[in-house]
Amino acid sequence: MPAPCEGRTIGLFGGTFDPVHSGHVHLARHVLDRCRLDSLLFIPAPRPPHKRQTAVSFAHRAAMLEAALLAADNHGRMQCSYIEEHLPTPSYTINTVEALTRQAPGQRFSLIIGADSLFDLPHWRRSDELLALVDLIVVRRDTVDAVMINQALVSLDPAFHFDEPQGRWNGPGGRTVTYLSDIELPVSSSSIRKELALGRVPAMLPPAVFAYIKTHHLYGWRDSA
Ligand code: ATP
Repeated sequence: MPAPCEGRTIGLFGGTFDPVHSGHVHLARHVLDRCRLDSLLFIPAPRPPHKRQTAVSFAHRAAMLEAALLAADNHGRMQCSYIEEHLPTPSYTINTVEALTRQAPGQRFSLIIGADSLFDLPHWRRSDELLALVDLIVVRRDTVDAVMINQALVSLDPAFHFDEPQGRWNGPGGRTVTYLSDIELPVSSSSIRKELALGRVPAMLPPAVFAYIKTHHLYGWRDSA
């Protein structure tokens, strides 16, 4: 089967990562392999526009990401980017992509988002300009299917149409949208935070991240010993 989103491309995976969980890491690995990306940047947001407040600081969230990526043994293909630390807050993705494009003119970027974020995209700052700058890779989440993805894309821009042989949508300006439905990871950072606050060790938390949380007493974790 051909890769649905091939090309010499850098994947951008932005989020709050509060904390990073195994779902984020599995998903990133899967996208790297399936889409044959050159590399992938995890981009933690100091202050995300769509969430009220983060539970822990940017420094802790970035440190947990570093710990997870070190443990993931990915030969340097997945890295943590600190670019949003130096950009105005809240951290709008369009600002980040424009800054990355200034740093590396001509580089092709693919923005990776969960399907939940696709439905939110019309509310993102300058989403039409964002879609003109990046390819999108949408990863399945919850009960989303390709019909819902199609509806969401067409309502963003009626020019989007599905290219059957390529298995992806083509949009304005030669940009593509790929939907990866062959991975499903029923986990969220909020469920992890809840478990930690109840004193449970979440199964989908990388051990290195759990060790960091214990050391720094984050998310209400208390050692009972
Ligand atoms: P929270 O539960 O606090 O809202 P989250 O688990 O959604 O957090 P984020 O850091 O906000 O984590 O997510 C970053 C990106 O990763 C978003 O695009 C989100 O849609 C995607 N994502 C996170 N978890 C999954 C998952 N299990 N499956 C698919 N996409 C995911």
